[in-house]
Amino acid sequence: MQASFERTSWFPIMLRLEGARVLVVGGGNVAANKVQLLVPTGALVEILSPTLSPELERLVGAGKAQATRQDATVENLAVRLPGCRMVYLATSNSQLNATLSALCQSMNIPVCAVDAPDVSSFITPAMTTRGAVQIAVSTGGAAPVLARRLRAKIEEIMPAGLHLLAAFMQHSRLALRKQVPDSAIRRRVWERFLDGVGGSLAMAGDSQAAQQELDRILREGHAKTGEVWLVGAGPGNPDLLTLAALRLMQDADSVLYDNLVGPDVLNYVRRDAERVFVGKQTNNHTLPQGGINAELIRRAKAGERVLRLKGGDPFIFGRGGEEIEALVDAGVPFRVIPGISAANGCAAYAGIPLTHRDCAQACLFITGHARADGTLKLAWETIALKSQTIVIYMGLTLVNQLCVRLIEHGLPADWPAAIVERGTLPNQRVLSGTLSTLPQLVADNRITSPALVIVGEVVKHRVVSAPT
Ligand code: SAH
Repeated sequence: MQASFERTSWFPIMLRLEGARVLVVGGGNVAANKVQLLVPTGALVEILSPTLSPELERLVGAGKAQATRQDATVENLAVRLPGCRMVYLATSNSQLNATLSALCQSMNIPVCAVDAPDVSSFITPAMTTRGAVQIAVSTGGAAPVLARRLRAKIEEIMPAGLHLLAAFMQHSRLALRKQVPDSAIRRRVWERFLDGVGGSLAMAGDSQAAQQELDRILREGHAKTGEVWLVGAGPGNPDLLTLAALRLMQDADSVLYDNLVGPDVLNYVRRDAERVFVGKQTNNHTLPQGGINAELIRRAKAGERVLRLKGGDPFIFGRGGEEIEALVDAGVPFRVIPGISAANGCAAYAGIPLTHRDCAQACLFITGHARADGTLKLAWETIALKSQTIVIYMGLTLVNQLCVRLIEHGLPADWPAAIVERGTLPNQRVLSGTLSTLPQLVADNRITSPALVIVGEVVKHRVVSAPT
């Protein structure tokens, strides 16, 4: 281990760079990353490099930075150093970086040789910025990957609209102080605002609605407002949750979830939120849709923040549309957060590109759910086409009928078809065959729900990545 790693003497500060000359030596992607970090500060960025990456060309072209297209030599750097606030060294030659760093340090100019803390006088932390709120994570150069991991964790708990919320609260502060002179009551008003819809409205950038909510709280005093969050939980693997889903899962008072939402995902819901299973398996006695709608409305009106967690995406075969219609009719505020649908998740984890320019110009999502008479009634003429990929949700039960109909309507019997069972989960299974062999494969392998059928030549382009 190098001696420098034992130093603990890095001192974190926030440097004002507006109008300051900052030199970036190097013209590749590493240099571009640093320039991108510097530009928002208003620094005067000067790049020294004989060549520039396309991103740097773009930044220079847009007037965000200046470039001197010369070799990074001691002489070329030396003439530019006087008056410089700091220097980044990002050439691909570490020996050169070290030499140039020594020159900067001899002139007492802060210098960072990228990925070489031992020859740097400052290092760059992993950063998270939400407007004026900035968090920097450093491991003293010892483990940048760890710093980036920690930053990702911090970003998870810092919603993207936080700066909008801070700006809204700052803007409303003076008026509120006049309206509510008592500071304790003012604090309660803000807490109610943040606990209710106000915080999420302001974070979503809707300051007008946020203001209305604040006015309402002031008028009504203590009434609690509930709302419903219709959130897509993705196909089952918690890695595929969105940051918005995760945040609402942490904030909810109660969660109504389907059978597609597995325990791995539910683990991320706030511990003391009430959990209500409203799964829609045909064989058990759970709430029918009307009952689910009524329960969402009842809870929201009682002041709860209700998380309606759905497998995949709420608007893709998820009956999300019906639920929000009911909420609108009842005057209950709601938000919809998209999720990764089974088609996207299964295709990616099975290695099947849903469109491939050689064979699929379109991709169709269809339902294989039977009608009351047990048949599939679909627009077969537009579905059974060779130029497209067909993704069938809920197609397991009628997989035989499905394949037969597709052949009857013109697709060849040896047309590629695959089924993905429990896509994206650790025990995912993928079987591929043809329209004529798939039903037998499904039976022989006892494929169970949830399973997604994918039909089309893209199945032949399946790529299975090597284990890492
Ligand atoms: N709203 C969901 C779909 C609900 S319909 C979405 O956007 O994904 C339910 C069907 O989705 C299942 O019958 C199955 O065909 C498919 N499905 C959902 N999750 C799946 C998974 N992990 N693996 C395979 N198929 C899945």
